Amino acid sequence: MRATAVPTTAVPATAVPTTVPTEGARSVTTHATRATRVLVLNSGSSSVKYQLLDMRDSSRLAAGLVERIGEENSRLVHTPLHTPPAGDGAGKRERTGRIADHAAALEAVAEELARDGLGLDSPELAAIGHRVVHGGLRFTVPTVIDEDVMAEIERLVPVAPLHNPANLTGIRTARSLRPDLPQVAVFDTAFHTTMPEYAARYAIDVETADAHRIRRYGFHGTSHAYVSRKTAELLGKDPSEVNVIVLHLGNGASASAVAGGRCVDTSMGLTPLEGLVMGTRSGDIDPAVIFHLKRVAGMSVDEIDELLNKKSGLVGLSGDNDMREIRRRVEEGDERAKLAFDVYIHRLKKYIGAYSAVLGRVDAVVFTAGVGENAAEVREASVAGLEQLGLAVDAGRNAVRSGEPRIISPDSARVVVAVVPTDEELEIAQQTFALVSDNRTLDA
Ligand code: AMP
Repeated sequence: MRATAVPTTAVPATAVPTTVPTEGARSVTTHATRATRVLVLNSGSSSVKYQLLDMRDSSRLAAGLVERIGEENSRLVHTPLHTPPAGDGAGKRERTGRIADHAAALEAVAEELARDGLGLDSPELAAIGHRVVHGGLRFTVPTVIDEDVMAEIERLVPVAPLHNPANLTGIRTARSLRPDLPQVAVFDTAFHTTMPEYAARYAIDVETADAHRIRRYGFHGTSHAYVSRKTAELLGKDPSEVNVIVLHLGNGASASAVAGGRCVDTSMGLTPLEGLVMGTRSGDIDPAVIFHLKRVAGMSVDEIDELLNKKSGLVGLSGDNDMREIRRRVEEGDERAKLAFDVYIHRLKKYIGAYSAVLGRVDAVVFTAGVGENAAEVREASVAGLEQLGLAVDAGRNAVRSGEPRIISPDSARVVVAVVPTDEELEIAQQTFALVSDNRTLDA
């Protein structure tokens, strides 16, 4: 099953009612004329992040976050963005006090939106787009959600135990609030389903791997898709013409090799633990470390899981998971912070080298997400010494702070090095809207 490419251009004000074929060739009929808004929901285990966008010009109408759901000190922060002068977020509102569960959280979000005249009952709302972390091998494209799709997301819980249950809770709650509205799942894994089998396979017994769905799926796909496409735009080329290494460096971090718009390798695997050094995750590690910790240190599997996911990476090496803090300490001469920085950079360099080899020809290396967009020292250090690969950074360009996509390599460099801010919510909204507003056919 493959979808046609999702358009990213602005759309006309009137969307006609249309039939939307889903992944399993079932159909949903969208309900409204002039429905151009999309609500994007990113449901975590104890949080919900949301944005409401108008797809005529991709503008943000509102954004917010509910956190610590189920605790006494839950908090909702809502920012209306649709009316000047509040377009700068000046009209921010906050609620504190217990929000019992995801249903209560979404109801509170709906109330806040309604206060701004943006309620979920508005005929202008075209769809709700949900970030879903794991789509396995089946979901290679954004998919209109029905019972069968929800059952499959549930079947994938064993390979995404932290994320898929929370995503499902968000979907169920949103469906109960607006059962008539198309709801679309946009999968973090989808962009990586183009990886060739030899990049997706672990070299373990095939029967065991297949019986337990063990393979490299990759994550952050929405970001890698968006950023690689934007990089092609920055180079003035069609995505099919460029080979890009995307370095998504946030609290979680992953690299991908994208050839002609298709992902051919990525650093995360069965779970988001593999690959780069992250804020709290180890990234690549000899699997025998796990046997050793169990046999010699007497740790349980859950303790090792916690160690590698929550107490490793930058925080394990230095005590801090925030790159700003690490850099501050490095400047003060702190040895552990320097070690953490050096391990982080060394791993990044290895992936840049590996993906240069995988791609053969590299047109651009691009940095994105919290660290990639903001930490000039990380960008400079990770390409330092890679002149043989055609890589260099211009110090003046690298020092510029900007929210815009920009080139930071010198004009003479063989490979462009760039910073391209990611926008996963916009990508989810665009993919969702394209699916519900177009009468396009997906191959079954
Ligand atoms: P994300 O997961 O993309 O939101 O990225 C979050 C991370 O970005 C934080 O944990 C910080 O380590 C990092 N970050 C944000 N701002 C800066 C900055 N100005 N300099 C260095 N790192 C930053």
